[in-house]
Amino acid sequence: MSESSIRMDRLDNRYIITGELDLLTPMSISSGKANPETDSPFIRTMNGTVYIPGSSLRGSFRSTVERILASLGNTKLTSCILFEDSTSNICLAGNKKEKDNLLKKIEANQIDEDGIIAELDSKLCGVCKVFGSTFNISKVRFTDLYPVSGTTPSVVKRDGVGIDRDTETAVDGAKFDYEVAEKHAKFYFEMIVENVDEADMAVLSIGLNELIRGELWVGGNAAAGLGRCMLNSPTVSRYFTDINSYLESGYSTNGDIALITSHLNKFLEV
Ligand SMILES: [Zn+2]
Repeated sequence: MSESSIRMDRLDNRYIITGELDLLTPMSISSGKANPETDSPFIRTMNGTVYIPGSSLRGSFRSTVERILASLGNTKLTSCILFEDSTSNICLAGNKKEKDNLLKKIEANQIDEDGIIAELDSKLCGVCKVFGSTFNISKVRFTDLYPVSGTTPSVVKRDGVGIDRDTETAVDGAKFDYEVAEKHAKFYFEMIVENVDEADMAVLSIGLNELIRGELWVGGNAAAGLGRCMLNSPTVSRYFTDINSYLESGYSTNGDIALITSHLNKFLEV
């Protein structure tokens, strides 16, 4: 496995995790465009297929990992709350003073590319290193999730409560409806990670563990229990750890999610 780096201009390794994402509760992901039938239609492709955008899953996955890491208080696996921009933030991406210092150095040409990467490697939190920040691209991609072949998610309309945008309180008598994909709908899951080291894998395995246990919520109204997802039959279907093994074996099949999750134990000392 490569040394820890946010460097992405070469490909040291790639892991593709696949499986089937099952809805344990109905899910609401709005297309954002009302139509004559409903105020809030479920998002669909051009030809009408209901799907879960990879970005929706990615957002929940990241924030779940952030919350868990923050509560674990592990000194080797760190997490910032990115948008809490303060001078006490442990992470460069969320620390205004550190950020300004680095930007000044870059503007004044006082630091070269290797210097920038070294600074980011030492000052970004574990979560920003994996999921990206204003300074670095993400090592993880979530493919849009389409229904498992031969299945069509059932979509139904629900009545909601109209919310006043200014006061965020219910509006008396305001009618509002929204579509949900009903529970038991199944979608293909694919997550592609590149250039990850052991710490990155440990961070990712937290989110994967949550998904495998059925404790990740995606989409709207998660507070009311909507969008609870479970990853079934997860496999690491293709990987290579360096370019030589890639050339020798091509994409090899390992098939064992423990490969990923075992890395977490090294950091949590369990
Ligand atoms: Zn961070």
